[in-house]
Amino acid sequence: MKQSLIESNGQTSGLFIDGQWREAAHKEVFQVENPSNGEVIAEVCDATSNDARAAFEAACKAQDAWAATAPRYRSEILRNAFEILKRDSEQFASLITLEMGKPIAESRGEVAYANEFLRWFSEEAVRIGGRTGSVPEGHLGLITRRKPVGPSLLITPWNFPLAMITRKVGPAIAAGCTMVIKPAALTPLTALKLGEVFVEAGLPAGVLNIVPSSRASEISGPILADSRLRKISFTGSTNVGKILMKAAADNVVRSSMELGGNAPFLVFEDANLDQAIEGAVAAKLRNNGEACTAANRFIVHSSVYEEFSRRLAERFDQLTVGDGLLESTDCGPLIDSRSLANIESLIQDALQRGAKRITREEQFDGPGHFMRPTLLTNVAPESRIINEEIFGPVAPIVSFENDAEAWQIANQTEYGLASYVYTESLDRLLTASDQIEAGIMGWNSGVVSNAAAPFGGVKQSGTGREGGIEGIEDYTTLQYIGTRLPTS
Ligand code: ADP
Repeated sequence: MKQSLIESNGQTSGLFIDGQWREAAHKEVFQVENPSNGEVIAEVCDATSNDARAAFEAACKAQDAWAATAPRYRSEILRNAFEILKRDSEQFASLITLEMGKPIAESRGEVAYANEFLRWFSEEAVRIGGRTGSVPEGHLGLITRRKPVGPSLLITPWNFPLAMITRKVGPAIAAGCTMVIKPAALTPLTALKLGEVFVEAGLPAGVLNIVPSSRASEISGPILADSRLRKISFTGSTNVGKILMKAAADNVVRSSMELGGNAPFLVFEDANLDQAIEGAVAAKLRNNGEACTAANRFIVHSSVYEEFSRRLAERFDQLTVGDGLLESTDCGPLIDSRSLANIESLIQDALQRGAKRITREEQFDGPGHFMRPTLLTNVAPESRIINEEIFGPVAPIVSFENDAEAWQIANQTEYGLASYVYTESLDRLLTASDQIEAGIMGWNSGVVSNAAAPFGGVKQSGTGREGGIEGIEDYTTLQYIGTRLPTS
């Protein structure tokens, strides 16, 4: 299976800079492994800081001409890319499963989801508007215009190797920005294949550049230090987000940060339990829990706590864990051994503090990083699993007695990305919306991500919104023109 894509097909594992596929300056490569079996599936050129500078230079050189293109032209390139990605969706799905591990059905879902950002922003590209009016005193007319923010640095994670890129690239292209993409080192192949899509779609050289690297800060460092950078968009951990925000502050670079989460999943006494169980399975186990929107804590009213816990554990116990390429697999491996060890330590910490495991156990022989979906009850509030982002198929279930307590538990975290509320009462849903500090709320739904919706968090979950009509604003600057009006 091991192959150097440079040798095997000439380009796909190279760096993509200024419309060309290249080797890294120092000619080194890094390996990409299949998390289901540890096999090396490819060797990818390992970009250096010199490559990062070259990629950013290409983006800067292309910026003015790209910004001057017609919105319709940019829209049609995105639409072309959408059609190509749709045509090649099965290849993309297999590649995602191979390098990231998720079950093939979920990879197909990711490809469709990712592609919707290309379609959505192809439609939005021609609708970037401003407003007109006059100031209250009547002596000045008011015109606002949205212009591309300029060369952007996009840093993406491994958990959705395609969707986290199209969610940034779609609005950047639509708005007229050029960009350098630094994909996660664990999943660079999908990103590089997307580069091929944009070549075929007719994107001009230099607009989109891709620099995979095993040394992330060697890529971000020189680009963030360049005063021509206008925006950084990052999806990943809160810790790295803080480092990047601090670095961005030096040149006052616009920052969009999609960071960690610790989503509460609230089940009230009036909830439809069938729906709540379905939603809980989806909110916890979609992407094997490796999602910043994943339900991290089930918070359940005491009157339905026993039934909810028992039924959810039964559902978890029926699921098959295995290689994502097998159609029969429900849950694939975790991304790597570090992640597996961390989640195991969260479980051990909770058990040592008196928690009870209510799902069955299963031993897996390596080298795949497998773990059974796991639920814990009787979890002490100070347990790490309550307070840290889990990023795996494990969750605690805690109970509450009244609504005030539910809001208090839900907000007891520094994060504020997703939240889920199961109730049949609109009053209670609206109170939850008032009370819960989160950028996203699912009402009787365990999956809410959509290209048409604004995705983003509050508190330490980040700043900015991706997707929706709001998503494009992050890639534009607003200019106000005050025009002298004739005095009467
Ligand atoms: P995760 O824990 O999900 O891997 P990270 O925040 O570590 O999340 O990584 C998300 C992305 O950020 C990846 O592309 C990674 O290479 C990149 N990254 C990690 N550390 C840095 C850093 N110091 N500077 C720039 N990018 C980084």
